[in-house]
Formats: sequence, structure tokens, C-alpha cells
Amino acid sequence: MLMEGTLTAGQGPAAAPHAARTDVRSLLLNASMEPLCIVSLHRAVVLVMTGKASVLESDGQLLHSEHAAVPVPLVLVLTRYVHVPQRRPVPPTRRTVLQRDDHRCAYCGGGADTVDHVHPRSRGGRHEWTNVVAACVRCNHRKADRLLTEIGWELPFTPRPPRWSVAFGASSRCEPAWTQYMTA
Ligand SMILES: [Zn+2]
Repeated sequence: MLMEGTLTAGQGPAAAPHAARTDVRSLLLNASMEPLCIVSLHRAVVLVMTGKASVLESDGQLLHSEHAAVPVPLVLVLTRYVHVPQRRPVPPTRRTVLQRDDHRCAYCGGGADTVDHVHPRSRGGRHEWTNVVAACVRCNHRKADRLLTEIGWELPFTPRPPRWSVAFGASSRCEPAWTQYMTA
């Protein structure tokens, strides 16, 4: 049995051993590449060691147990498809929108704390995933009740519903390595 305490991280056999990395979280994908949930490093390594999942993205470091070395898994994919009952769609809230957009302002790329309705609600814009983006206070304030075409701004992406479910609610931030797997 592989225990968390027996894991050490390093660049390879020659590197000095680091303290066990327990802060790493891994994104687990179904065999269909759909995000399933976020698992602890320990669980991720057990899934890999037992052949239930393979590592898709790693941070380049290796975890050494007594008998094997496993890349630190940031994204894992299950070897076999598991059937998941239909999950309720996640509603766009401040937290989930910031999560989808990686806490980055859609207009200036800076850190975002607020949610902006691209087509303002006061002008008939709806509160739905395709009409909300993360925005910094400054841009949100500058844009106010105007349409993007009125102020010459452009969105760098098309807002879409996220692929993840409520199961992701517990984690407040996406790891950069997860981003490409998280949107439809
Ligand atoms: Zn901004």
C-alpha cells in the first residue's frame, strides 16, 4: 500500500528529495475526457499505481515510492469509462463564474473579483453562462450599462457553460493545467 508519507518529490534520482507534496490536487477525467472530480495527490497516485488511470499532464516532477516513480499527476484520465448519473447544471454565480474564468478579467486580463453581464441586465441581458464574464472592479465600473460595441471593447473568448459540475464547488481555483479540460 502506498502511503502519502512515503512519497517524495524531486527531478529524478539525482535530485535532492523534497518534502512530500501534499498540496497538489489532480483533475480526474473520465475515459471520455469529461472532467469527473478533483482528487488528492494520494488518491491520484493510487489510481495510477493500480492501473485505473494514467497521467495526462504532470508538473515534470517525479514521486518516488519504494518501488516505483510516478510523475506528479495534475490531470489524470480513467482507463475505463465510468457511468455518471446526469448531474444538475451549475448555475452561474459569482464564485462559479470566477472559477470558470480563472479569476481573470475578461476585458483587461487583470485579477477579477466581480461578474459582469456582457449585455447589461438593465438592457435586457440575461443572467446565463453565455452572458456573464469575470471582470475587475475597474472595468466593470467603466463599462457600466453600456454594450461592448458602444465602447469599442471586445471579448477575447465566447463565454460558455463550464463542463464541470457542482462536485467542483469545494475547490476555489482551477490549476492552470486543468483549464483546457474544463470548458466545453
Ligand atoms: Zn479589468
